Amino acid sequence: MTIELFRDDSYLKECDATVVDVKDDALILDRTVFYPMGGGQPGDSGSVSWNNHHATIADTRYGEDGSIQHLLGDGDVFPAVGDRVHVALDWERRYRHMRMHTAMHLLGSVLRYGVTGGNIHADKSRLDFDMEEPVDKEAVTAALADLVAADSAITCRWISEQELDAQPELVRTMSVQPPRGKGRIRLLEIAGVDLQPCGGTHLKSTAEVGLVRVGKVEKKGKRNRRVNIHLD
Ligand SMILES: [Zn+2]
Repeated sequence: MTIELFRDDSYLKECDATVVDVKDDALILDRTVFYPMGGGQPGDSGSVSWNNHHATIADTRYGEDGSIQHLLGDGDVFPAVGDRVHVALDWERRYRHMRMHTAMHLLGSVLRYGVTGGNIHADKSRLDFDMEEPVDKEAVTAALADLVAADSAITCRWISEQELDAQPELVRTMSVQPPRGKGRIRLLEIAGVDLQPCGGTHLKSTAEVGLVRVGKVEKKGKRNRRVNIHLD
């Protein structure tokens, strides 16, 4: 299993690693800073270098066997199993994903309805809410600005299912119920704002989200409002 360095420190931009497997166009490493697509967040892109070679990492996905696959761009040479490599993120893109992902948590705390879907993109993101009421775009944008201005700390911690079972009040305060069966759960906490299980990459403070604006609100059925947000 690849050591997922991005889970404990989402600000790591690069790392050294050893190639443990090469499958088709996918590189599997012993450790990585690359986030594989999941939870509505795109997979990371960037580059890998070794000896005097350099290749592009176009995307990162989970393989069917659960491995983290760094997908190399067309025509690139591949490192071999056992090679020591250095991987580096397209940090500008990833950092926007982190701002967007964190902004989605803030949006979910402003609109306290069930979330039925969502998608994160560097330019535009959306959440689908199980709600019938119209959305006041200006009011939501202002509420988001307040949360950003509050500069609240954002932390992640792992908790075992046993620890969670011993603290039922913790589960009650969560906006989303934790998935069971994996032994431990990663909790995201935005101090005073949100507590929920989440495996994504977040900022360390809400201030880093910066200017965020509610865009189009689409009516996708009687009980579904799709709220788009943009970073300015
Ligand atoms: Zn999250």
